[in-house]
Amino acid sequence: MKLALHWRIIIALLLGVVVGGALSAFWTPSTWASLGVSDPSAFLAGTSSDANAGAGAAAGVARFFVNLVRLTGDLFIRLLRFIAVPVTLFSLVVGVASLGDVRRVGRLGVQTLLIFLVTTVLAIVVGLGWSNTIKPGNFVSQEQRAAMAAEREAEVAQRVDAAAKAEQAMSAWALIRNLVPTNPFRALADAEMLQVIVLAVLLGIGLTMVGVSPGQRAHEALRACSGLSEAFIAITQAIMALAPYAVFALITPVVATMGLEVLRALAVYCAVVVGALCTVQFVVYPLCLLLLTKGRVSPRAFFRATAPAQLLAFSSSSSAATLAVNIECVEKRLGVPASVASFVLPLGATINMNGTALYQAVAATFLAQLYGIPLTFADQAMIVTTATLVSVGTAGVPGASIVLMVIVLESIHVPPAGIAVILGVDRILDMCRTVINITGDAMTATLISAREGTLVSPSDPMRV
Ligand code: ASP
Repeated sequence: MKLALHWRIIIALLLGVVVGGALSAFWTPSTWASLGVSDPSAFLAGTSSDANAGAGAAAGVARFFVNLVRLTGDLFIRLLRFIAVPVTLFSLVVGVASLGDVRRVGRLGVQTLLIFLVTTVLAIVVGLGWSNTIKPGNFVSQEQRAAMAAEREAEVAQRVDAAAKAEQAMSAWALIRNLVPTNPFRALADAEMLQVIVLAVLLGIGLTMVGVSPGQRAHEALRACSGLSEAFIAITQAIMALAPYAVFALITPVVATMGLEVLRALAVYCAVVVGALCTVQFVVYPLCLLLLTKGRVSPRAFFRATAPAQLLAFSSSSSAATLAVNIECVEKRLGVPASVASFVLPLGATINMNGTALYQAVAATFLAQLYGIPLTFADQAMIVTTATLVSVGTAGVPGASIVLMVIVLESIHVPPAGIAVILGVDRILDMCRTVINITGDAMTATLISAREGTLVSPSDPMRV
């Protein structure tokens, strides 16, 4: 009997952790030296260097495996990102157009945005609750802080630079202005997701105005979009067959390079982030489901159905890359109709990031505690506002929000250089917050369709 895909992904994940852990413990620079390699990064990059003149066949074999693992992971992520723009575009066009009339688009849009906003603020409040109670900043010694900051100085300078540019685009005026692409094709080409959403919603409304019922002029256009959307989701399914290998390839280097030192120093901080994220995932979301669907969707069934999307989010750290699988799970395994799923999920993958918002809040308070900066109630309210905005502006790709964190830090006068301290563990926390991000989208789609009374029996309860 063939093992279900999510089990194969879990096994690959565990194998990756074990292999990565073993490499981080046993493969040290002296291992490279014993193979005749004195400059491992040049050797791995394939640049000729005198330092590596003595490299033998064993070093070549090691390099081959490192490159193979990197290639597998990179290809998988590239494939998933390749489908992110077309899936968002086509499924949202179909989602909007199949709602039938513009007023229904408006009604669904308002409900969706309201749930997004409330859950994002709830997540931030949970994060603030955890970090104000446990105060993870008090668990890091001055020396540890200085050591970690020094190690990452150059990287932070680059990121602060990028953030300065991003900040200009983050004023409320600029944010609204930039929503409207002057050239929709450029928005697609540059993967400007907020603009792609505006394009898709407008196109969907346009099709509805022309008429999408059989015999009306836009009927065929909508059918074409719907066929294309299904084609891209089918491509995703094919790509998912590679997931176990890719997950192994993505996790192993993360665990191997992170090293245990930094984890130890930041253990309490990581525990607070993970604890707060788990509270949202296992308390807030289930409560919302139980209360707002009046018990029609049990949290257990919900998590079972969305497990493949969550596992993929965990290993890819990318909401955009997980979108197509999330749509598949929500439609086929939860019974949410395509008109709701293809409206709510592409929107959510771009603007609804509860895990990211929570993370911003915990990281900002952690760094304030580290620097001994007291936070007033007004500061905390500022964190709620900026973290909400930043989570809307964050792209659904790995590590996106750490750049924008500067905006939250500056709003409460915490030096952005503090990011250096938390950079070392960002990847692992990124994996966790992405799971919460995409689960929030799936939950919103489920809530909306349960309240509308459009939930049907899942067509495919056990597959994927
Ligand atoms: N990686 C996250 C996502 O794709 C974004 C972030 O918080 O960096 O959802």
